[in-house]
Amino acid sequence: MLVRHISNFIRRRAMAKPRPVVISGPSGAGKSTLLKLLLKEYDQVFGFSVSHTTRNPRPGEKNGKDYHFVSREEMLRGIEAGEFIENAEFSGNMYGTSKAAVQEVQAKNQICILDIDMQGVRNIKKTDLCPIYLSVQPPSFEILEQRLRQRKTETEESLQKRLTAAKSDMEFSKEPGMFDEVLINDVLEDAYNRLKSVLIEEIQKVKALQN
Ligand code: ADP
Ligand code: 5GP
Repeated sequence: MLVRHISNFIRRRAMAKPRPVVISGPSGAGKSTLLKLLLKEYDQVFGFSVSHTTRNPRPGEKNGKDYHFVSREEMLRGIEAGEFIENAEFSGNMYGTSKAAVQEVQAKNQICILDIDMQGVRNIKKTDLCPIYLSVQPPSFEILEQRLRQRKTETEESLQKRLTAAKSDMEFSKEPGMFDEVLINDVLEDAYNRLKSVLIEEIQKVKALQN
């Protein structure tokens, strides 16, 4: 009787909801590129927490998929109404994770991925979300600048703001205990394989839940 009770308890623990994953790191480090690969290979396992932002959509970005593109007034109203887990100002625009964005993914028993900046990381640490914290870093500052320029999504002004923020972010990633893993995105395939190996335990948890 007791043995059955204990084994049921262990099974329930093993089948507990998967932990969310926070992916942070400087703009241009390759977070979106890595996440696109992950979400394509494991489309039933991971779900993206669609943030709100006041910045303009880039070519190819879809409202409701990449971001919820909103006005500053709309965003401030949502924050005031307590709809956000965290929010931050980055490079002259507002960004934020709504409670609904995370709940939508978790309701499907999927691993919720949050792509957020370092202010977001600090704020999420104050919540009970309990995610795995990953930082994606470029091999060097020079390569980061090259990648941002080659992406051709920023004005010179926005690029400079992002590069300034990147310096702090690269330092932030070295703070002891801040991240569970710092991934250097040099050769894309290697970084992607490393990302998968860091997440394999959570991936297996979700697969067990879904079977
Ligand atoms: P982030 O989402 O972190 O801002 P992106 O995923 O948009 O960064 O990547 C920035 C640019 O660098 C994109 O143009 C992308 O194609 C390119 N990129 C990403 N990873 C690599 C890599 N390992 N090697 C070379 N270019 C890369
Ligand atoms: P981008 O404009 O390049 O899509 O994103 C700029 C920065 O904002 C990135 O560092 C990205 O991680 C961050 N970001 C995106 N969504 C959120 C969010 O909801 N909250 C926070 N704090 N940062 C976000």
